[in-house]
Amino acid sequence: MDRARRLEYLRTLGVEAWERRDMPAPPAAVQVTAEPPAPTETARARLPETAAPQLARIPVVTLARAAGSLVIPEVEAQWESLQAEVLSCTKCALHSTRTQGVFGVGNRRAEWLIIGEAPGAEEDRRGEPFVGRAGQLLNAMLKAIGLPREQVFIANILKSRPPGNRDPKPDEVAACLPYLMRQIALLQPRLMLAVGRIAAQNLLATDTALGRLRGQVHHFGELNTPLIVTYHPAYLLRSPADKRKAWEDLKFARSTFQRLASQEQ
Ligand code: URA
Repeated sequence: MDRARRLEYLRTLGVEAWERRDMPAPPAAVQVTAEPPAPTETARARLPETAAPQLARIPVVTLARAAGSLVIPEVEAQWESLQAEVLSCTKCALHSTRTQGVFGVGNRRAEWLIIGEAPGAEEDRRGEPFVGRAGQLLNAMLKAIGLPREQVFIANILKSRPPGNRDPKPDEVAACLPYLMRQIALLQPRLMLAVGRIAAQNLLATDTALGRLRGQVHHFGELNTPLIVTYHPAYLLRSPADKRKAWEDLKFARSTFQRLASQEQ
């Protein structure tokens, strides 16, 4: 993306002075783990047993990605049946108050998976994640690092809206997380970006404050998928002073992705 367009997106984000001509390295506070740590206290600790068998690597996903437009019917069929399951799910009480389930949206061969908390009112109405004001800001954040919304996959921890946008309850997360695990197993993203405390803490099975989870590459699940944490766009709408830190996170995510991609070639 050229500099003029990036600056335009940054202006949309409301941070005029972010861009430097020489694209600085990640801040000193950023720690990049040299080796993926052994999968210790990852979300698996909290996940139901049923999620585990879904995690076997599916090499056809990598092939399909490399082939660009090639659609693997078996993988497509798994996506479709998972989507149907989510949309008819009654595993937790939220099914009785939601308008519809919100499965997730985007490119099913995406290399980036963006994970939020749960649908809000607009998402519940339209059946798509991040379509309200927070979604517009998320789109601008992604564009600022050269990622159109259509190029990533976007999903939430919960697929049903909690009434009044309250925080998800532990039993709701326990019921819903296996769906996300299956999405991850099908997508096999190169990088996961958790937006907000709820997504970050549930994926990493930790109570550590979001501020302390930023600036590091965590690893998630059986595939040790790199996971980076940043602020939720709804929080940034309330606290615009932290947009600068979110921009640092996004640049960190982008450089991590580029490093990983170049290592795999
Ligand atoms: N906030 C989220 O975390 N997810 C959405 O889909 C919308 C708002």
